[in-house]
Amino acid sequence: MNYTEIMVRYGELSTKGKNRQAFISRLHGNVTKALHEFPDLTIRPKRDRLHIELNGEDAKAVMARLSKVFGIQTYSPSVKVEKDMAKVHEAVLDLMNESVPQGASYKVNTRRADHTFALDTNQMNLNLGDFLVDHRPDLKVQMHHPDYTLRVEVRRDAIYLSTQTIQGALGMPVGTAGKAMLMLSGGIDSPVAGYYALKRGVDLEMVHFLSPPYTSDSALNKAKQLTTKLAPYAGYIKFIQVPFTEIQETIKSTVPEGYLMTVQRRLMLRLTEALAKQRGGLAIVNGESIGQVASQTLESMVAINDVTNMPIIRPVATMDKTEIIKVAQDIDTYDLSIMPFEDCCTIFAPPSPKTKPNLDKTRYYESKLDVEGLMQRALDGVKITEIKSSDEFMNQDQDMISELL
Ligand code: ATP
Ligand code: MG
Repeated sequence: MNYTEIMVRYGELSTKGKNRQAFISRLHGNVTKALHEFPDLTIRPKRDRLHIELNGEDAKAVMARLSKVFGIQTYSPSVKVEKDMAKVHEAVLDLMNESVPQGASYKVNTRRADHTFALDTNQMNLNLGDFLVDHRPDLKVQMHHPDYTLRVEVRRDAIYLSTQTIQGALGMPVGTAGKAMLMLSGGIDSPVAGYYALKRGVDLEMVHFLSPPYTSDSALNKAKQLTTKLAPYAGYIKFIQVPFTEIQETIKSTVPEGYLMTVQRRLMLRLTEALAKQRGGLAIVNGESIGQVASQTLESMVAINDVTNMPIIRPVATMDKTEIIKVAQDIDTYDLSIMPFEDCCTIFAPPSPKTKPNLDKTRYYESKLDVEGLMQRALDGVKITEIKSSDEFMNQDQDMISELL
């Protein structure tokens, strides 16, 4: 079918006035970024729809990219026709033959923005219904829950036809909710948490802690590769790697074993907060899930969360592991996440961390550290790169493992 445009319906647009304008212009920017590989497109944001004129670009390829842009309720590949009923009939028949199989049920649904057009909504519905009775006698008209709806939009410039309404990624355009830092490990949970934060319009920067030589390049590459999987939802993503070796070694030699994990997590959180403040981040997102492991009991959260007043968003806090895994598979991060590279927490994980750390003891053990100095040196060693969806960070042993999978 020679589709001429993709018609995009806005997502959760309950807000009015200024917010509506911000939503639309951010979505316009994000769609433009997501579709930058298609130079011939014309993208026109209007009050109630966004129109992507294809100008010969491939509708399927464009829609594949569009399906990952948050803030889109539904979209329809459409055909633009002159306001001439003979031409409309011809295009309707082509479109129906192409997209509606023998014997299916359908209805015609006309919307008229141009009230000067000769036929009103009802007349248009009847006209096209009669035409289809003659030319597609196999089809059944059905008003309630038809298999297909032929949508006809009479606009000032032309008439637009479509038979498919495809669900978009929903959510809010990324960036409309401000920026937060995602604590990204190499595990299953934090990329899923990132996906959900992006879906609510939160722009993310990744913060990843590494402890060379205890953690390998492969572990770092894995976190970067996970970032490429989230990039189609967000455009470019800044990846901030933070050296954590000195901190972990110091904690290991200073803090009793039961509290190693809790104090490490406090330092991670302190550093993430410091980076957020430096970089205009308003909140922290992590992949904690209540009760999943020792450091994720409510008591642990109390002892860890103690170091910051910044909001911590935990999108997967109340999800079951199987539910999280399902989303990880949908967003294609799962296979990467299960690759067996030790991250800094696994290596320094004590055999039996406290599941109910005491807050006063936690504070006391941490007070034995030169927190400020340790943090300053870690922040001095930060490295920031920008990652996009087409980047590759696999190295040889990872390639081998992916073949084994
Ligand atoms: P994940 O699957 O996300 O690794 P997990 O169930 O393995 O989570 P933990 O290892 O206890 O849980 O980590 C809890 C959260 O702490 C992670 O979801 C992540 O947000 C953060 N985190 C852990 N390790 C790191 C790291 N090396 N760099 C950045 N953030 C981390
Ligand atoms: Mg982990």
